[in-house]
Amino acid sequence: MGRNVLLLGPQGAGKGTQAKRIEAEYGIPHIATGDMLREAITAGTELGRRVAPILAAGELVSDELMIELIRERLGRDDAEAGFVLDGFPRTMPQAEALDETLREIGRPLTVVFELQLPEEVCTERLTKRAALEGRVDDTPEVIRTRLALYRQETEPLVEHYRATGNLVGIHADRPVDEVFAEVQEAPEHLAV
Ligand code: AMP
Repeated sequence: MGRNVLLLGPQGAGKGTQAKRIEAEYGIPHIATGDMLREAITAGTELGRRVAPILAAGELVSDELMIELIRERLGRDDAEAGFVLDGFPRTMPQAEALDETLREIGRPLTVVFELQLPEEVCTERLTKRAALEGRVDDTPEVIRTRLALYRQETEPLVEHYRATGNLVGIHADRPVDEVFAEVQEAPEHLAV
């Protein structure tokens, strides 16, 4: 059945970094919807053209489009070994659609990690990343929009997953190795 891992947490909490470590350690693909959208933009596909202004503004792409994208991605062969989801779901309708999809394919989430980081530290980290990576959505105004959307739309998912009983909270204001050590210690994760 594989390990089916979900990472929650605000932008800047280190989801991408931890997901890459999990991918390398457990041999499961890192599925990052933000990366998928940025690739589409770079490739100049129809999808890319549709979503480019949305990403630039830090707004959310429609649930319908995102759900279609993730269903297609989870259906690919490499996801059969498991997956580490990063950046999806971001809204309650997305979470419900994911639950349904995973039920259909008989692949419940093994563990949900919430990387916890105070908002001001997120802002600091994203501002630094702007200088390093030059992401168009790391400007101060867009950072504010993205973090506000996290609080309004995504943070409620923590309670949704707490109710399903496999939520593990991790303090993310620490070095990458320390955070990853906790990821590896999660009993739900190792039990597979
Ligand atoms: P990220 O790299 O995860 O911060 O995603 C970058 C941007 O892609 C976000 O600010 C959104 O515009 C868009 N995006 C990524 N994943 C989703 C999602 N699950 N739902 C809606 N929009 C998304």
